[in-house]
Amino acid sequence: MKLSNWFYFLIFITLFFQACRKDEPVVNNTKVFDGVDQRLWEYFERFENEAARRGMIIDLNGRGITAEIVEIEQENVGGICNYFPNNANELVIDNFIWNNTSEFQKELILFHELGHCYLFRDHRDDAHPDGFCKSIMRSGLDDCTDRYNGTTRSSYLDELFDPSLVP
Ligand SMILES: [Zn+2]
Repeated sequence: MKLSNWFYFLIFITLFFQACRKDEPVVNNTKVFDGVDQRLWEYFERFENEAARRGMIIDLNGRGITAEIVEIEQENVGGICNYFPNNANELVIDNFIWNNTSEFQKELILFHELGHCYLFRDHRDDAHPDGFCKSIMRSGLDDCTDRYNGTTRSSYLDELFDPSLVP
């Protein structure tokens, strides 16, 4: 009897710890980004790595870009880049959209805003003949349709770091 009680106790403990672990964010990054919400570090590092893969050295810490996740007042706005002439630029990510969107969409939002804040890119709303956006720098206000997924990701990132690759 005692033995089986222990058994249940151990099962309970195991489930408890598994449940806890499940709620923790998956952190794959190795770098610290000062002034950036820790949930975004992974994406910041990924942005640098994707640039490096394309021969572009990017140091987001060096530019001092900050980022926070808060409630954005305007509806359906996933992110904002605030430009400051004499200070580091600032990314603002909407808390509700961040918590209710897919992994690809999260990356798109982050990379789009870093496209503004770090690369100083403007919006690009032109579309391929099939109607899909040529760039993840689309404004979201025009007609083109997003197609950011595992198949298209790499070519969208080529375009992000060098728009001339997609005329
Ligand atoms: Zn934008």
